[in-house]
Amino acid sequence: MRCTTKTFLRPALAAMAMALGVSIVAGCTGSDLNGAAPAAQSEQPVTAPRRQYTREDAAIQRAVDDAHAKYRDLKEGKNADYIPALAKVDSNLFGIAVVTTDGRVFTAGDATQEFSVQSISKVFTLALVMSEIGPQTVSEKIGVEPTGLPFNSVLAIEIEPGRPSNSFVNAGAIATTSLVEARDANERWQRILSYLGKFAGRDLKLIDEVYQSEAATNQHNQGIAVLLKSYDRMYCDPLEATDVYTKQCSVGVSAKDLAVMGATLANGGENPLTHERLMKSQDVPELLAVMTMAGFYDESGKWAYEVGLPAKTGVGGGIVAVVPGRMAIAAFSPPLNKAGNSVRAQKAIADIARKFNANIFAAPISSQAN
Ligand code: GLN
Repeated sequence: MRCTTKTFLRPALAAMAMALGVSIVAGCTGSDLNGAAPAAQSEQPVTAPRRQYTREDAAIQRAVDDAHAKYRDLKEGKNADYIPALAKVDSNLFGIAVVTTDGRVFTAGDATQEFSVQSISKVFTLALVMSEIGPQTVSEKIGVEPTGLPFNSVLAIEIEPGRPSNSFVNAGAIATTSLVEARDANERWQRILSYLGKFAGRDLKLIDEVYQSEAATNQHNQGIAVLLKSYDRMYCDPLEATDVYTKQCSVGVSAKDLAVMGATLANGGENPLTHERLMKSQDVPELLAVMTMAGFYDESGKWAYEVGLPAKTGVGGGIVAVVPGRMAIAAFSPPLNKAGNSVRAQKAIADIARKFNANIFAAPISSQAN
């Protein structure tokens, strides 16, 4: 069913809204968020009744609450421990947030609890580099393939020498960080940090404990960077790139921040809360394509098959999924499965996405013949 512009608020509420001068443009059923939506508004407290509280709002809030209640007590998975500081994070923390492209915010649980963004930062460094050098050069210098292996590769480790594959595996991510235009390490770091903050709509900060912990144990990533350098695939000093990359992974975000960041991508590159344009709208589909193919590492195929949304996970326990034109769904829960993806976060996002027919490979409900 498509949305209409007729209001379905109860008359008293509608009259109150009119008296407040609030324009109400709604009429979606709870399971259809396409099309018309309330006019853009600033973020409001999630629990407080809002002036423009529509049935669509109630449906989203209910979906978020239901997913939280359903998975709150799920005990599967284990915190990442190869970065010692991550093993210490409370495994019970669980937050969910949805932000729509017209700036509505819905949360449940520990949605404002900060955790390290980890690999989700790779999306935004790629966005920055795409803005600077364009998607074509990214494709040439880094690659945009899930694995880079030919269809009949016999041995998975026979990867093309030095080819970083894509910006979300560590090799490609460190190479992408090395492509950010900067005169020195500090400028590189500050540019990435400030860009991440613009996506979140607030200044973000380094979680120093996570950074120190990873910096003391990231020899493997240093090795990757030096190896890439030997293949001419590193575009600044390899140890500088690894250090800035480690810092970008240690930036603190909440599930709500991630949802705002994802909603900026869902909104074609303009932050729906601050209205700042952060990348060209024509570059967003390329970014989302890489997320679809590589955002869940070696579970990307399963995620695309079962949920069908561009998404990115991080070993801090965060995941953000983007529903182009509509919303982003983000969740945080530290225990990870074997592929390094948060168990509760992915289940919660999948449930919410299904409720709203968000799969990008599915035809809209209105065009389905039952
Ligand atoms: N900083 C982490 C690393 O390089 C990021 C990994 C992740 O979030 N998947 O290992």
